[in-house]
Parts: sequence; structure tokens; C-alpha cells
Amino acid sequence: MLFIRLTPRPVTGRLMQTLPGARWSCHGCGACCRDFRLGPVEPGVVEDLKARGAGQLAGREDWAVPEPGPNGEVGWFLRHVDGHCVFLLPDNRCAVHATYGAEAKPGFCREFPFRRLRDPNGEVLVIRAECGGFHASHTNGAELAAQTEEAASLPSLWPTPEFKPAAVAVMPGVGLTLADWMALEGALLRCWEGVDPDQAEPEDTARALARSAVHAVGKTLGPGRAELAAGAVREAMRMVTQAAMAQETDATEDWQKGLVREVAALLQTAHSPRPFAPATRRYLHTLLGQAILGKHLLAAGGFVPMLGRFVFECALVRTAAVQPGERGEAAGASISPTEASAVLVPWLRFADNPMVLAMLRRTTPALMELAGTPLKDSVSVPTIRP
Ligand code: SF4
Repeated sequence: MLFIRLTPRPVTGRLMQTLPGARWSCHGCGACCRDFRLGPVEPGVVEDLKARGAGQLAGREDWAVPEPGPNGEVGWFLRHVDGHCVFLLPDNRCAVHATYGAEAKPGFCREFPFRRLRDPNGEVLVIRAECGGFHASHTNGAELAAQTEEAASLPSLWPTPEFKPAAVAVMPGVGLTLADWMALEGALLRCWEGVDPDQAEPEDTARALARSAVHAVGKTLGPGRAELAAGAVREAMRMVTQAAMAQETDATEDWQKGLVREVAALLQTAHSPRPFAPATRRYLHTLLGQAILGKHLLAAGGFVPMLGRFVFECALVRTAAVQPGERGEAAGASISPTEASAVLVPWLRFADNPMVLAMLRRTTPALMELAGTPLKDSVSVPTIRP
């Protein structure tokens, strides 16, 4: 891996960093109570809820089931009923919250959609893009910077993840030391902040940032064959959905089968691309900034592949969003944030899975092509000097 020196920037000293201008409030859509594994739940919370008689709220006593957790250890998980959490009420409220208060809920419920991590500048707080109300609340919600204290006080089963890799990949084979990456990340976030999302297409912002990052480490990107590359990633993801369906067993829950089929249908959809409404460009712009601050590059195997994945996701939204008149919905000429969210949220939930992430990593050459596609005129490429 090639190491390049950048001028270190002073640590900000802020206790918890949030994306400039970030907002979020819960819209009570109940989407986080569907299409997720609901746990692990702290054993103390299970005991407490049993003692309170939560079985009456659930309508059954076996509302928690033992299952292997992410680390292989068996823990308690809330049961799904009709594709949603056993405690979800018909009006999308949580029966536990409504009856006993927020403190009675499992830690993972209380924490969603906050995602915290620690980098050399301090703690970082971002909103998980899988939140079903974020497409609206990123503009009309409460300031995220005012919610850091509350987020920091929430219980968590696991310690806050630390971002401290020995080297950070800008692109395959080109890495920076952690200190140099933090300097570059700060510069990239300032570039992101300088883009007018009302004017710029989100894919162009991602490609401009890819070029800036690659230029800062003294490299260039290839010519970028977007359509071929997008087709290759789409095909790889179709294979993942096929494999997931083939691996279904009697133990596969209905909500998992439903999610795979929903994503398979999105990947099969071949509508003509539609333009994004200005509000959708702002939503996607926010998701891009969050991906940078939230270090999504770790899962993607590098910064440029992460941007390539973002470009692919924009293409997925453009082609899979409901067409005017389809399913009787009154879709407009441009894609609204609600339509974009309806495509993105299931896709992101599906993609938050080791098997899908591993396959996405194998499409890195195609993701590099997507990030390297020539820009249209909506964004200029900022220069970051090494
Ligand atoms: S998905 Fe987001 S907006 Fe919807 S209920 Fe959950 S936290 Fe609230």
C-alpha cells in the first residue's frame, strides 16, 4: 500500500461531531420495527419486561426467542409477527414504550437510528440511512447537534466502535495513515459542504469527491464506463438475491423472505431513469455526507469504492422508483424523497449483511468505474493539495 503525507489538521476538540446542518426526528413510521432482526435484547430487559407482564401486551408469552447473535452467542430476540415486531401496535406505536415508557425498551430500539463511533477527533454521531423517516426529517427534524447528549446517554450492549485502522484505503492499493486520512476527510467534508445540492446531481458530487481524493494522493481514475459497471454490480446483486432464496430453510422468517424478494424485484426493474426532485437531491446529498463522516469506507473497502456504491444506489433509485401511474400511485415527473426512500431503505437493510457486503467488495473494479465516470457539468472538481 502506498503512503502519502498530507498536512495534518488540528483536532477539532468537539466532543461529538455531527454532519453540518444535520437534522433528525422520529416520524413514527414504524419502519424500524419491520425488516430487521430485533435484538439481541439485554437479559435484564427481558427479565424486567417479563416481570411487568409484557406477554399481555404481545398477546403471547413467547415474545422473546433465543437465537444466535452477530458474535455467534445465543441471545434474546424479539419475535416477528406478520412481518413486524410483536410489540408494534396497529398505529405504529410501540406497546412497550406506550405502556412502560422509553426506558423499558431494549437498548437497540432506543439507540436506533443513532450510530455512534469514535475517531481521532472525538465521538461521531450519524443517523442510520435505513431510518424510514429520514428522507423527511433530515430537513424538518430537530438539530442533531442538540441531540448528542441524549444519544450519548443511551444504553448499548457493545462499546462504541473505534475508527483506528493502521491504514485507510482511498482506493485499492493506495492508503493513507490514519492521521493523513483524517486530514483528507476534513477537506472532503468541506468540499461536500461547498456543493449546492439544489444544483448538483448527487452522483456528480460523489464523482467530484472521488476525483478530489484520488488527485490528493497523486493518482487518477480510469475513464469510467458507467452503464457497463452498473450492469455488472446489478448482476452480482441479483446473484446474491438468488443465492439467498436458494438458501431459505423452514427457519427463514417470512420478513427475511419478503425483504429478499422486494430487493430482487428492485434489481429486476428496468424503468427509464427519471430525474430527482430538488428535495431528493438534498436527501441523497445528506446521505453522502453521512457516509463520509460515518466511515462507510470501511465496509466498502475504500473511499472511492464507497462513492461507487453510492452512484450505483442512485442509479437503482432512478430506475426502480415507482413510475407515474404504476400501482395506482400518483408519481410525478421527478422522483420525490418518499419514492427514493421506498427504494433505498429496503436495499440498505438487505445490504447490511455480511454475504451482500462480501459480494459488493468483489465488485470493486465496477464500483471504481462508477465513481470514475466523467462528470456532467453540475459540480466542479475541488482541488485538495497534498
Ligand atoms: S424508522 Fe425512523 S422515523 Fe420510522 S419509527 Fe423508526 S426511528 Fe422513527
